[in-house]
This record gives sequence, structure tokens and C-alpha cells, in this order.
Amino acid sequence: MNKQQTIIIGSGPAGYSAAIYLGRSGYTPIIIEGLQPGGQLTTTTTIENYPGFPNGIDANELMDNMRQQAINFGAIIKTESVVSADLNKKPYTLTLDNEEKIITETIIIATGATAKYLGLKEEDKYKGLGVSACATCDGFFYRKKVVAVVGGGDTACEEASYLSNIASKVYMIVRKPQLRASKVMQERVFNNPKIEILFETNTINLFGENKLEGATLVFRKGLPDEKTYNLTIDGFFLAIGHKPNSEIFKPWLDTDSEGYIITKYPTTQTNLPGIFAAGDVADPIYRQAINAAATGCKAAMDAEKYITHNL
Ligand code: NDP
Repeated sequence: MNKQQTIIIGSGPAGYSAAIYLGRSGYTPIIIEGLQPGGQLTTTTTIENYPGFPNGIDANELMDNMRQQAINFGAIIKTESVVSADLNKKPYTLTLDNEEKIITETIIIATGATAKYLGLKEEDKYKGLGVSACATCDGFFYRKKVVAVVGGGDTACEEASYLSNIASKVYMIVRKPQLRASKVMQERVFNNPKIEILFETNTINLFGENKLEGATLVFRKGLPDEKTYNLTIDGFFLAIGHKPNSEIFKPWLDTDSEGYIITKYPTTQTNLPGIFAAGDVADPIYRQAINAAATGCKAAMDAEKYITHNL
């Protein structure tokens, strides 16, 4: 086992940034790329809010650039996924999907989070063509258009308010007769003339020729006054929660009630020595590429310090 070697699990902005920093400091980071190389950003189109690209940058190009930058500084990339972990004692053991076992003293977990979708097959079909799970990322493309946000929590209210500054009209599709969001967020959407809330409503289908053109909704499903109708929309934003990709680490790592890995503020240190968490897997609130990149940098610096003082 090479003690200079840090295993980075995940290949979004957090994982690549950690690798760039570690590689540049003379360590040998190994990135286990995972099932979605490049992470969540690869499901969107253009990134316009990542500093340094005044004309925006294609999301896949941005991630390819980060990957190349990590490789240039000596990162080794494995196109495998971690399927199980044994963090019971040091050194830690990770098992990959090709059954390879990696023994390591330091791990940076940057496995991200996955936006929840409703599970309609059309959601996949129109991803990037009207369907999105991130208003901050994709809202700009709906200037003066009609959009819908699914969900009734704080995220949905926040996204609907954000979109109301861009779009001409924002529907909120809420399955219950009330919102789950905090009072202040509820008031914000109730008082916004551009937002119309469709309570007790579920989405059963999305349609459109080459891009999204509308959604089929059901009002009060299963009740005598049930009504099915088509709503014309250009954008359909999911805001029904995220799931952090922390499942395999949960037996050993402290997580919050949603599964986000808890780190010791202001560091990226988890409850186990030599194990750090960066990016969305440890971020229930901000979930932006720039924050992920920043915590990747922090995790690399924390790992370096740990290696220097402990190994
Ligand atoms: P929440 O779990 O709070 O809300 C999810 C919403 O999506 C609920 O309205 C839920 O409906 C709805 N939903 C879930 N599954 C489905 C489905 N299959 N079909 C239709 N609707 C569905 O998630 P959030 O992401 O909004 O918030 C996560 C946490 O982050 C919360 O603690 C929140 O307070 C916090 N947060 C705080 C912010 C702030 O303070 N500014 C901003 C954003 C988030 P139902 O109510 O029926 O279950």
C-alpha cells in the first residue's frame, strides 16, 4: 500500500478538484469514477454560472477539462464503481465492481447526490429538452416561457420563486392540499402573482414533438371530482428532494436524517480518521458545482495534512 495514495470516490467537480490539488502537491490520487463519469453536471447543457467562462461552457466540456486537468497532475482514473466498503478499521478496504480490492489509509468521498424524479419514462426522454432538476442551472433557458415546478417543499418554493424572475408564468404542481415548505417560503409563493399553485395534482405524462411541450395532470386522483387535463409548459422542474449517494458508507459514517455525510465544520473531516467528504454527498443545502469544487479543494488539503501528520 502506497501511503501517499488517496482514493477519491466520485468524478464530479468535488472529486476532480480534490485530485487536482492532491496531484499538484505530489501525491497520487486515484479517482474511482463511478457510474456517471463527470457527475450530475453531465445531465445538464450549458453552465453559465461557473466563474471563468463569460460565455458559458458546455457542461460535458467543463467536466472533460476538469478530468484532463486532474490527469495532467498525475491522477489515475479507474472507470469502476465502489460497490462496498469496510471502514471497520484502518487501513480501509474498498471493493470495486470488478471485484478488485483497494486498501487505503485516506479516502475522499465525493459521490454526490441524485435528484429524485417521479419515475415517468418521459422524464428521461426530455432531460435537457425541457426536464430539469435544477432551476439555478437551467432556469435561464426559460426566459419568458411557461414552466412548472413539481414539489411543495422549501426547494420547490425557492425554485419557483427563482424561476418567476425569468419565466412568464410558473406553475407549482403539489400532490397534497397544502405545501410542506416553511411559512416564510409559503408566503413568498402565495404572494407572487406569477406563481400559480396546482394543489392535489399529480403528473402522469409528459409530451412534446422534439422537446417538452406539456404535461398531463390529474387533479384529485381517485376522488369523484377527479379531472385529467393537459397543461402547456416549456419546462418541467423536479424539486421533490435529493438522495445523497452515501448508502455504502452509512454503517460507519455519521449522516443526518436524510443520509448526508456529516463533516466537522469548517473541515471536510468525517467521524473516521483519514476519511473526508466533499461535494453534494455532504451538502444538503447549496448543491452547486462551485461549492462542490471548493469542498473538493478543502478535502485535498485536509487529506494532505492528515497524511503528513499521521502516516
Ligand atoms: P422536502 O422533502 O422538504 O419536500 C419534498 C416535496 O416534494 C414535498 O412537497 C413532497 O410532497 C414532494 N414530493 C416528494 N415525492 C413526490 C412525488 N413522488 N410526487 C410529487 N411530489 C413529491 O425536500 P426539499 O428538497 O424541498 O427540502 C429538503 C430539506 O432542505 C428540507 O429540510 C428543507 O427545509 C431544506 N431546505 C431549506 C431551504 C431554506 O431554508 N432556504 C431551501 C431548500 C431546502 P409531500 O409534502 O406530499 O410529501
